[in-house]
Amino acid sequence: MRKQIAAANWKMNLTFQQGEKLLDDILYENIILASHQYAIFAVPYPYLLMTRSEVDNAKNYHAAAQNCYHKKSGAYTGEVSAEIIHSIGVQYCVIGHSERREYFSETNAQLADKLNLCLDNYITPIFCCGEPLAIREAGTQNEFVAIQLKESLFHLPAEKIKDIVIAYEPIWAIGTGKTATTEQAQEIHAYLRSVLADQYGADIASQISILYGGSVKANNAKELFSCPDVDGGLVGGASLVATDFIEIIKALK
Ligand code: PEP
Repeated sequence: MRKQIAAANWKMNLTFQQGEKLLDDILYENIILASHQYAIFAVPYPYLLMTRSEVDNAKNYHAAAQNCYHKKSGAYTGEVSAEIIHSIGVQYCVIGHSERREYFSETNAQLADKLNLCLDNYITPIFCCGEPLAIREAGTQNEFVAIQLKESLFHLPAEKIKDIVIAYEPIWAIGTGKTATTEQAQEIHAYLRSVLADQYGADIASQISILYGGSVKANNAKELFSCPDVDGGLVGGASLVATDFIEIIKALK
């Protein structure tokens, strides 16, 4: 079975102490994950080591960075490279979140560079794609997300594409309380998989986890995750509340 993943995206929220308590509360629940299930915490950079050591003894629990820079190393004050992230034992990194695309003007080409750097440094990228509201209203969301995949991912050879996770996040559903319906989620996830299959073949496409993100909550996670092509979620707001994220982890297939 494909990896099923509950990924928390804390964004720029919580103090160090609040983050530590949130992790303690979630880990205290002692949810035993099956070999194909993962819980991943994308936390602010200064919390990565703490998060890594908190989850160290819990099977299939991992820390993730929320971003990395698109250059290998050098005079880029304030930036953090994939190599630095790898050097502290962190194995996942969110790439191309819509907030970064919007507020930091990240382009599909830069994201391709970030993916390469992650993979070169043994980091699994969680690559975000998804359309804004106007595109959804125009009904051209499939074409929009296909271009995001083509321009950022399709330079990768088959043996590398298998090592990435995709998060489909319709921008109109992020932090808005609006969720895609299960039909909308399943439809576009199946479409994304068909785009991957056209490029890499059905066998490879069937191995790539595609998470849904956009107002995943404790009360809708089970239904969304039950869609055959939805392999878990990337979760913002609800990942900041222990009881909610616990339910979301438990909702994994
Ligand atoms: C996100 O940050 O990726 C996200 C989906 O946020 P929320 O769950 O709050 O919509």
